[in-house]
Amino acid sequence: MPENILIAIAWPYANAEIHVGNITGSHLPGDIVARYHRLKGNKVLMVSGTDSHGTPVTLAADKEGKPVEEVYKKYHDGFLDLFEGWGITYDLFTTTHTENHFKVSQAMFLALKENGFLFTQKSLQWYSPSSKRFLPDRYVEGTCYICGFEGARSDQCDNCGNVLEPERLINPRSKEGGALELRETEHFYLDLSKLEPDVKKFLQERADHMREPVLGESLGKIEAEGLKPRPITRDLDWGVPIPIEGWTEAGKRIYVWFEAVIGYLSAPIEWSQLQSSSLTGEAVSKGSEAWREWWVNPEAKQFHFIGKDNIFFHTSLWPAQLMGAGAKFLEIFAEDQKPLTLPYDVPANQFMNLEGKKISGSRGWAVWGRDALTRYDPDALRYYLTVNMPEMKDSDWDWSEFVARNNNELVATWGNLANRVLSFAYKHWEGHVPDVDLNALRDIDRNLLAVIENGFKAVGAELEAVHLRAALGEAMKLATAVNQYLDQTAPWSAIKKDRDDAAKTIYTALKAIDSLKILFAPFLPFTSERLHGFFGYETPLFGEQYTEDVTDSLGTHKVLKYRVGQVGNLSHWKPSELKPGQKLNQPGPLFKKLEESVVEEERARLGK
Ligand SMILES: [Zn+2]
Repeated sequence: MPENILIAIAWPYANAEIHVGNITGSHLPGDIVARYHRLKGNKVLMVSGTDSHGTPVTLAADKEGKPVEEVYKKYHDGFLDLFEGWGITYDLFTTTHTENHFKVSQAMFLALKENGFLFTQKSLQWYSPSSKRFLPDRYVEGTCYICGFEGARSDQCDNCGNVLEPERLINPRSKEGGALELRETEHFYLDLSKLEPDVKKFLQERADHMREPVLGESLGKIEAEGLKPRPITRDLDWGVPIPIEGWTEAGKRIYVWFEAVIGYLSAPIEWSQLQSSSLTGEAVSKGSEAWREWWVNPEAKQFHFIGKDNIFFHTSLWPAQLMGAGAKFLEIFAEDQKPLTLPYDVPANQFMNLEGKKISGSRGWAVWGRDALTRYDPDALRYYLTVNMPEMKDSDWDWSEFVARNNNELVATWGNLANRVLSFAYKHWEGHVPDVDLNALRDIDRNLLAVIENGFKAVGAELEAVHLRAALGEAMKLATAVNQYLDQTAPWSAIKKDRDDAAKTIYTALKAIDSLKILFAPFLPFTSERLHGFFGYETPLFGEQYTEDVTDSLGTHKVLKYRVGQVGNLSHWKPSELKPGQKLNQPGPLFKKLEESVVEEERARLGK
């Protein structure tokens, strides 16, 4: 039975471009796991979108002197372009600024309210008399009253990670300039303290498969501080309207932390609606309900790919929202009464640094995703980011290591192996796989194929557990085993003495490479697809990405989608059944060797 796998990836803020740290932190690991499950024939839905609301976006718009909508769309379009280039295969990458997301977020808000988890409370907030408005969180900076950090936001300190009470901030100053005064304002709060026992139970039930740093941090924080009520509205005129009369009119919106995570639910719903718009008759209503296979299905597995700065939102706050809403959400949204599925795993990554320093966009200390693609192939970048993925601790992008690993591992161990054997077969067997008698294969041939066949279990088990470095390491070990086999059998010289012997070797090596192509495919999808073509197969390994314009009452937004196409629900995750005599296509090199000079050129670009 195919499994339903939801790959939910952190929603990037529309206020900066995406760098390699963001890619290895969430988008790439999510894509690798999605591609693996698709190859296995599972039903995968991979979603995310641009976080278009919130003060990071309004501040960026103020800074650029442009309307917020224009600024969010500029970054959003750049994200779509980047994901296509890197092969990050979202079934839907959308935005939070859609009519659908508004509706779903409002239904969630109302469900929590009806279930008694919301209350209103008055508090003090910084107000700007000159611009006649409240200034939320990032608009006011000051010194943290807990750790003394001077650049703390009024609602949160990025240095010690604590939520702050705005009125206690030391030396508050407005980002807009001008005077500040404290005024009373009223907001809705989510009563997380009531949900604390459920959240603890939720985490403890996942202790067998959640990463230790993720579980440790989440439970530790609850033990130390408890879950406290948190405001879910604020004084801002850009964002999701509050579904209670009078509140939106008073210049308040739903708080971005509360609604952005709801995107994991609203995006599948939008995806279903878009699927059904291409259907006719009865299939339409069935199509628009397709999201339920991942969301109203206790068997479905939901994976959240995020960076470590977002752990608490995904392991504690989002599950609390879901558990608090319970069956009420569906009752409000779809006149049905079933609880929503809870996350299965939150394989959060730690951070990637760059040449020993923290990545910083504002200081130009970054490798930008789109820029890197103008000089390097996506699989070379994906390879380095996977072998160096910060799964359990912070890692570092080092240009000399990038060049070394590309040349010594990707090119020398894997690329040359595939190219050398395919070219040899193409030349000496007139563009065909040697037509050998399979019963005549020698022990050494059978042993190699058995080792490769076992790789599907070993690599698959690591991928299921989201141990991506280990999974790729296993696949690379198998490529080394094929190289050793060729050293022992030496078909390049054997062909001059015993063509039959060389044919057995080349057939065996080709079959091993045909299998390795699948084992590498989740990590290196572009080159595995090319290699698949060299072998003469007609059905591709993967579908295609494309963009589409979607219009609703808020306007038009562009989305990135994934079309399964010819692949259908074919399962490719199995050892090769390569036929002797199969026609090959003209092979070529898969990867490029990089010059040592790249290291200095790239280092010179940093910090500018
Ligand atoms: Zn602090």
